[in-house]
Amino acid sequence: MKKIVAWKPLPEDVLSYLQQHVKVVQVDPAQHDAFVAALRDADGGIGASVKITPAMLEGATRLKALSTVSVGFDQFDVADLTQRGIVLAHTPDVLTESTADTVFSLILASARRVVELAAWVKAGQWQHSIGPEQFGGDVQGKTLGIVGLGRIGGAVARRAALGFNMKVLYTNRSANHEAEEAYGARRVELPKLLANADFVCLQVPLTPQTRHMIGANELRAMKKTAILINASRGATVDEHALIEALQNGTIHGAGLDVFETEPLPADSPLLKMANVVALPHIGSATHETRHAMARNAAENLVAALDGTLATNIVNREVLQR
Ligand code: NAP
Repeated sequence: MKKIVAWKPLPEDVLSYLQQHVKVVQVDPAQHDAFVAALRDADGGIGASVKITPAMLEGATRLKALSTVSVGFDQFDVADLTQRGIVLAHTPDVLTESTADTVFSLILASARRVVELAAWVKAGQWQHSIGPEQFGGDVQGKTLGIVGLGRIGGAVARRAALGFNMKVLYTNRSANHEAEEAYGARRVELPKLLANADFVCLQVPLTPQTRHMIGANELRAMKKTAILINASRGATVDEHALIEALQNGTIHGAGLDVFETEPLPADSPLLKMANVVALPHIGSATHETRHAMARNAAENLVAALDGTLATNIVNREVLQR
């Protein structure tokens, strides 16, 4: 029987599914040496949220497939995996709608100051009817700029255009005709998106090209009234520049699900800002979606080890070797 390493806890039924096909060795990724030793002796692996470096795979000559319980695959060196002949599988689609819900909750919470005002009520400060000091800004009818309109960006665009009557601008390297037709999304260059959007929403993967794609210059190019929403990966934004922009009033606020360092350090200035909604990377974190992702990743791994996986492959070129 083939052997796989699981470096993330899996739901019981998903674990039993895997155990019907392979021997499962569960490891704690915090025990780095034991984790690496287990990989050296395995045919496959499944997990998420841990950087898998080339050094960790040295000597792992049996390894044929890795399966991440996520759509993003920035924790892996894909070129190195391909060179080693290791298939990398991921879980697109199953998490698209719940992640889009998270994005929209950040848009609404930031614009309408939901988190800040809920805390204000709980602190007993609601002693008169509210006035302009507690007002927020509208979401409906405003302009949403989506940087990276793919699967999740498309689901956000649908909510925005059909549910909230918003105008949708986007930037991508290639056009998304479906979103243009269905939601009236208009493709523009990044400077134009930044200058016109009331909400700038990042949904690109983290790559060398997208790392810090929003920095001091881009923040300055946004409207003073605009809100930045990031549920992609923390490092797509230069967090230092964002903190300065929020402190200086260069932009109005931010709704953030992801950070350059996670968990967000307790001394981060972002934690003290009333105009920031900070979430603990909950994009896909519903019971239903996390279960579907684990199941999908387990099925991907079993199929990849059988040589029958046809979809959800990050490095398809490995199959041509
Ligand atoms: P996707 O369908 O591949 O969409 C990504 C979009 O980004 C595509 O439209 C792509 O279009 C665009 N893009 C890529 N590189 C770009 C660049 N250099 N400049 C401009 N646009 C670029 O992926 P998805 O399923 O929507 O997921 C997107 C990302 O969301 C994931 O990679 C992950 O990091 C993040 N995510 C976060 C959470 C969370 O918990 N917060 C949950 C799920 C996913 P072109 O190729 O045409 O440029």
